[in-house]
Amino acid sequence: MSIADNLKLYKNEVESSGVTLIAVSKTQPNETILEAYNAGQRVFGENHVQEMVDKQAELPKDIEWHLIGHLQSNKVKYIAPFVTLIHGVDSLKLLVEINKQAAKNKRIIDCLLQVYIADEDTKFGLDFDEIIELLRAEEFQELKNIRIVGLMGIATNTKNEKQIAVEFKELKVLFDGIKVSFFRKEPSFKEISTGMSADYKIAIEQGSTMVRIGSSIFGKRTIKHFKNDPLAN
Ligand SMILES: *Cc1c(COP(=O)(O)O)cnc(C)c1O
Repeated sequence: MSIADNLKLYKNEVESSGVTLIAVSKTQPNETILEAYNAGQRVFGENHVQEMVDKQAELPKDIEWHLIGHLQSNKVKYIAPFVTLIHGVDSLKLLVEINKQAAKNKRIIDCLLQVYIADEDTKFGLDFDEIIELLRAEEFQELKNIRIVGLMGIATNTKNEKQIAVEFKELKVLFDGIKVSFFRKEPSFKEISTGMSADYKIAIEQGSTMVRIGSSIFGKRTIKHFKNDPLAN
């Protein structure tokens, strides 16, 4: 099946549930992204700063670029002029830098806080207590050029669908609690970014509002990143 046909299938399925489809185009060449674009897709997800900057410069300007990977503070400046949503925010320090670069560009940048939900060792993501601490911090409340619009999570890489469902459910419960406690008057706090090719159906059942699908749309990724790329993260 062509990328266009594939894309349309996923787009219809996901959007009929009221969920946003983020086409994860990391490692895909511009021609491939254009195929999806010409089939109607406008929201694309990338996980490397340099790659996203290069693609943004060359591809149509009405594409919404989402950074879905881990972001280092020193690279925020490269994406601040155009990024639509930063999914993986996991520290106050990073938020402070995003705020600073957003202000320089006279923008307000939307962000998701990445929550640690998987039963795996990974450096990325905040736990429940850390999120509450961040949202209560005085320094956070002074940031005027960022807007927290929801939470993001990555489930354990397992075939155990029950476990995946439980992890997504925990994130939804946390989201509901935070919404009531901190964002009651902010309708923009409404996004839950969970679900990838392998688990997007479970994610949607458990309240996801944004799924990030790559390999199911574009096929398996083959291109590797260069390790010594100074801008790679
Ligand atoms: C690569 C990636 C995806 C997409 O994964 P697929 O299995 O190709 O759908 C989703 N989210 C994040 C954070 C990723 O890095």
